[in-house]
Amino acid sequence: MSQFELLPLRCGHIVDHPVESFLYRTKTSELRIDAPCIAWLLRSPTDLILVDTGPGTRVQAPQHYRSNDPDDLLPLELVRVGIKPDAIKTVILTHLHNDHVGGAEHFPEATFYVQLKELQEAVWPVPFQRPIYEVNRRGHAPAWTSILDRYVALDGDTAICPGVSTVMLPGHTSGSQGVLVDTNAGPHLLPGDLVPLADNWKANGASWIPNGNHTDLYACERSFQRLAALGATVLPSHDPRVFDHATYPLPQLAQDTA
Ligand SMILES: [Zn+2]
Repeated sequence: MSQFELLPLRCGHIVDHPVESFLYRTKTSELRIDAPCIAWLLRSPTDLILVDTGPGTRVQAPQHYRSNDPDDLLPLELVRVGIKPDAIKTVILTHLHNDHVGGAEHFPEATFYVQLKELQEAVWPVPFQRPIYEVNRRGHAPAWTSILDRYVALDGDTAICPGVSTVMLPGHTSGSQGVLVDTNAGPHLLPGDLVPLADNWKANGASWIPNGNHTDLYACERSFQRLAALGATVLPSHDPRVFDHATYPLPQLAQDTA
């Protein structure tokens, strides 16, 4: 069994964002945060996989950059961890919102794994999600269309390579998927925007709160139940506290595999 480490890469921010909008029907005293957009690098001795690509450059997505952020965060993050974009051959997209797919063009050698349902939803989303799929502007090509020739459209749960598989987790969007990753401290799960903050997955899954941005609350509930059954360590998609650690699993959880 291939064992991976997971490295969070900071690709942008949802700037000055009300925490309440991540936590459906929960009052949080007007608290606002700069919520990071996160790409995850999965690295094993034999495989290299990226999960999500962030919003792209400042020119592409000015709303996702703070005034003091560098103009293109993801390439700098890749330099920091010693990876050239050409080396990324496999990208898994949890869904096609612009803050997850906008950086796709950085990876000219990659194939992009996304759910067929998500591609269909991106073409004709519910009206309130039209801006986040970028299908609301005449004459503007949405970021997700820039890689149409390089998608692999998945139909449900799929093994991508030994140690990495996708798991259907609809609710935030109808084609959302998570990524289940084997590590030497047990399975870790990247849930996409089903779980934007650790607070959505309270007490390690003893209870849960849907993302305020959702298309189907029944689907959210079923996806949370599925997460609970998987028994994996869940790493949220927009939580600043993710960057308290440079890599996962946390060293104190890792078993001695020597
Ligand atoms: Zn989203």
